[in-house]
Amino acid sequence: MLTNVQLESILDELLFSSSFKDYAPNGLQVEGKREIRRLAGAVTASLDVIKKAQEFNADALLVHHGYFWKGESPLIKGMKKKRLQLLLNQDINLYAYHLPLDCSISFGNNAKLGEVFDFCVKETVSVDGINNLLWFGTWPQSSEPNDLLLHIEKCLDRKPQHIIPPSNKAIKTIAWCSGAAQDYIENAAYLGADAFISGEISERTFYQANENDIHFFSCGHHATERFGIQSLCDYLVNEYQLEYQFFDSKNPV
Ligand SMILES: [Zn+2]
Repeated sequence: MLTNVQLESILDELLFSSSFKDYAPNGLQVEGKREIRRLAGAVTASLDVIKKAQEFNADALLVHHGYFWKGESPLIKGMKKKRLQLLLNQDINLYAYHLPLDCSISFGNNAKLGEVFDFCVKETVSVDGINNLLWFGTWPQSSEPNDLLLHIEKCLDRKPQHIIPPSNKAIKTIAWCSGAAQDYIENAAYLGADAFISGEISERTFYQANENDIHFFSCGHHATERFGIQSLCDYLVNEYQLEYQFFDSKNPV
């Protein structure tokens, strides 16, 4: 058993969250009951996930995508009202960690994505002052672009969108960053990667891949960010003997 305040400081320390300037507050975003025995994990604190956490009798919900993003309306209306109302009615603590969970060497989305893909990590690079956000490595099994495409599809159980540059060059070095990091394709190309893997894609990504001569694989924002939260929850469950369940969502984006 942990208190909600203890869990927050444990998470803050594990993820070095005070060293990040983020687009949303990291930590305990919505305060609930004091004692935590049952933990729910999810990528996003959607209404559906909160309902499942409620059925599970969760004391805490730990997510990558929480609330109160920079630039969003501060008003409690519509979907935000429904989500907060359910959380507060059930007295469920909501913890959210955004950039700290992307960048963590031990538990992060990018670290775990590299493991899922069986990549050899060569280095991690900072972007816009955020350390360990862009990851570099190799996939020793093949440098054939189509082999990598099939491999990604198998690992994520989701067909990625592959933008092939005119040269269709062999892939010897790979960079990756989960989520909506498609614009880091420029950084990846600048640093010499043959391919860049991220979650989302924009219209401009097609030109960025072509003109920088780099392969691009859009693998899904949700699909690429399922692993960090699970590894963090697995650690907490073992360390503090919590009851735990992960709630995935069928988000195709
Ligand atoms: Zn994300």
